[in-house]
Amino acid sequence: MDLKKYVTIVPDWPKPGINFKDITTLMDNGEAYKYATDQIVDYAREKEIDLIVGPEARGFIIGCPVAYSLGIGFAPVRKEGKLPRETIKVSYGLEYGKDVLTIHKDAIKPGQRVLITDDLLATGGTIEATIKLVEGLGGIVAGIAFLIELTYLDGRKKLEGYDILTLMRY
Ligand code: 5GP
Repeated sequence: MDLKKYVTIVPDWPKPGINFKDITTLMDNGEAYKYATDQIVDYAREKEIDLIVGPEARGFIIGCPVAYSLGIGFAPVRKEGKLPRETIKVSYGLEYGKDVLTIHKDAIKPGQRVLITDDLLATGGTIEATIKLVEGLGGIVAGIAFLIELTYLDGRKKLEGYDILTLMRY
């Protein structure tokens, strides 16, 4: 299936010069969403994943159906102040802005094999921060899966040494 057919490119959003890849039109299509999810499920099986971890909000959209399909858990990574119990945190810079990401301290058991999911790899900052959270809790990042990779931003460089699956490249 040609998944790119279902992605809408929105020029100059959220600011001039950015061609935003809108995945809501892919999610809107049951066949395309299922096809994309199934690719990541296969990858997660291959990597013997115990737990999925994804940053808000689009990391949930990708990761939760994969976790459900495999019958394993999903741990959310959220912006500061959103998780109700004790967290660890890391600050990071992203394509447009700066932020802090957090995860519950008890979300990952040491030694668990984790798959990190997000919709899109741009500069890699979000996932670099997510890796720090996972490893900070003793998890093993056994794979990272994205729908989309913006190859011209070279985010892979930041994620060197990790196994990465991307379903579409621009
Ligand atoms: P990075 O941290 O790799 O620079 O940026 C990736 C994060 O920003 C992802 O969490 C992603 O949701 C968001 N993002 C940046 N650009 C786009 C885009 O063009 N489309 C979508 N859907 N998300 C984007």
